[in-house]
Amino acid sequence: MAEKIKRRQFCYYCSKELDEKDLVMKKFPLHTKKGIRMYTRKFHYDCLPKYIAENGNVESRAAETSDWDKVYKYFMFEIMHLDAGAKLSPHTIERLQGLRVGQYKPHATNTRTIKRGYSFAVILNTLKYSKRAIDYAMEHVHFENDDHMIDYIMKIVQNNINFIQRRMKDLERQREKVEKLKKEEVTTNRGATYKRKGTGRRKVVLS
Ligand SMILES: [Zn+2]
Repeated sequence: MAEKIKRRQFCYYCSKELDEKDLVMKKFPLHTKKGIRMYTRKFHYDCLPKYIAENGNVESRAAETSDWDKVYKYFMFEIMHLDAGAKLSPHTIERLQGLRVGQYKPHATNTRTIKRGYSFAVILNTLKYSKRAIDYAMEHVHFENDDHMIDYIMKIVQNNINFIQRRMKDLERQREKVEKLKKEEVTTNRGATYKRKGTGRRKVVLS
């Protein structure tokens, strides 16, 4: 009888062959042109923790990468009106990432998952909020060169960013309050959800 042909599998971390008994799988978000796709990677049982230790918190880093992606695309298409396939200048990228870490330019700083500065979500909302002022400036101000224009845009963004951060925090706080109220309501109602039916107590499911 012919033996079943097994597909050989290799560890994503150490590249050595995987044995079924020693195989673990983990899904990772992968950024594609069509958005984020979950991609399953295979590891040796002992290699997965090593991979995660060396690559940091994969999940939160991926979320930030996706927020950065949105900032990049918004700046490229909505602010600069560039075509697909174009790239933002290194100066533009440095200035945007500088905002993330609270510096003019991020000098060899890791711009992901640090607490300092503004989150990419705040930066994105500030860009949207500032768009009209930026559009106006781009039409009416004479700029010496591209870098000058970018610095001018960043000045507008910087003037608005604390306001947006505060507003987003307020909204978040309000959302939390509503959530808390909802929870309290459910807990209070729960006392009244036991009704006598026949001899026993029956729980009525809340819609
Ligand atoms: Zn391995």
